[in-house]
Amino acid sequence: MTLFGKSTALYDEWEDEGVSPFFPVIETNRGHHVTTAKHGDLLMFGSCDYLGLSQDPRLKQAAIDAIREFGTNTYGAQLLCGRTRLHDGIEAKLRSLSGKESAILFPSGMAANLAVISTIASDEDVILCDRTAHISIYMGSWLSGAELRTFPHNNVKKLKALLRKEKDRRRRVILVDGLYSADGDFAPLKEITALAGEHDAKVVVDEAHSFGAIGPNGLGVADHFGVLDRVDAVVGTMSKALGSVGGFVLTGKEFERELRYLAPSYTSSRGSAPGVAGASLASLELVEEHGTELRAKLDQNVRFVIDGLTEAGLNLMRTTSHIVPVLIGDEHKTVAVSNWLMDHGIFVGTFVHPHVPTGEGRLRIGVTSTHTQAECAVLVERLTEARNKFSL
Ligand code: PMP
Repeated sequence: MTLFGKSTALYDEWEDEGVSPFFPVIETNRGHHVTTAKHGDLLMFGSCDYLGLSQDPRLKQAAIDAIREFGTNTYGAQLLCGRTRLHDGIEAKLRSLSGKESAILFPSGMAANLAVISTIASDEDVILCDRTAHISIYMGSWLSGAELRTFPHNNVKKLKALLRKEKDRRRRVILVDGLYSADGDFAPLKEITALAGEHDAKVVVDEAHSFGAIGPNGLGVADHFGVLDRVDAVVGTMSKALGSVGGFVLTGKEFERELRYLAPSYTSSRGSAPGVAGASLASLELVEEHGTELRAKLDQNVRFVIDGLTEAGLNLMRTTSHIVPVLIGDEHKTVAVSNWLMDHGIFVGTFVHPHVPTGEGRLRIGVTSTHTQAECAVLVERLTEARNKFSL
């Protein structure tokens, strides 16, 4: 047993069998075409680069310009001497895009979740968390000292019952992902924010996989449902649709000072390096200007892939988004299928326990706006072959 009491036995077995769900080292990268030493050319469908921005020449140039101007690192953590006008620019752009009073930049989305959750809740409070929420949400909850209660995935009835039961707590804090990273479905944020209003609860939404890619303004699932103003804190990351690295929190003035002066993952950890900050700022500017067309292209590709794989009879769980899981179940079979796909030119994500529940192994396809329709068609064709070969 290791971290959190989890076992690595499955991984040991795979190592003995000479297969692996993880660690294919990428040697070269041209758009969606990567090479690995073992598999040669692969079509990349395993990324979170939903708008294709990590390969955009404008972001690359912005990163180079920032390094020329500021060097490869800042002088310290953001609180001390680690902020440049690029870091300020990112926060200002996030405020103006979202309409939230405060935007605070963190080294990563994980660091942002640790900070915001351990600041918004403490040992007199209760946290009500969707069972499928990201591990960083759990970690923030453990750190806060609040009692953690979970409800079944997207089960609003159970959440309501918990809110009633916990009415005497000092504070009730609801934690959900906007878009679930291994399932591809949305949190029902209209119902959740309405319940929070009725029961005087705070709501924190992790929009890591949706910021930039979902909603009429690209601000995530809360934007999609028109309830952004009812969310107390949005956590996001630059590391998915925005093609860079770095987490952020969008919230009101109430939390800003506490987060900036007290949250260790802000005060005592290095912020984005200048190259990364330059790319992040360019990315936000690009999404502000071209987001609507990028999202329309993304939707078109998502429709094509979901329709093709549904027609092939594969189990896509509840997805309605650019995260398309293909449920396989058994962990060994999941890894066998993903390794076979690698041998046949397709790179997809492989999710097995403990990243998803035991017996719910799945492939995880990340569709992007910059895949061509021909590339999406190759994906559907290979997965149809895999279905026949492995009786999926
Ligand atoms: N939240 C969710 C839902 C995520 O999937 C991830 C990354 N896997 C994070 C937060 C952490 O983001 P980052 O990679 O920026 O630390």
